[in-house]
Amino acid sequence: MTFKIKRSHNILGTTYKTKFLKKLDWFMGLCKFKEKEIHIAPHDSLYELKHTLLHEIIHATCHESGANQTQVIELEEVLCTVLATAILKNYDITNY
Ligand SMILES: [Zn+2]
Repeated sequence: MTFKIKRSHNILGTTYKTKFLKKLDWFMGLCKFKEKEIHIAPHDSLYELKHTLLHEIIHATCHESGANQTQVIELEEVLCTVLATAILKNYDITNY
């Protein structure tokens, strides 16, 4: 089975482009709100790659909805991680 990852995501009506980096940087994933881009570093496993991408999509959703203004960044980080884990553990996400 091939796994295909969309290169753009509709985040509450705003398009975010996904860029896959060729080499590691200081982050595994990064959401650039101003540029509307999600940057993903190389990963060893497909599960981790999906988890990072989903984590960044949730960051983008918090930003585009304005929910990020109602919470502290530490809470947002925890929410992004636990929501990404819960979604991946319960749903078969093969194309996104
Ligand atoms: Zn994060």
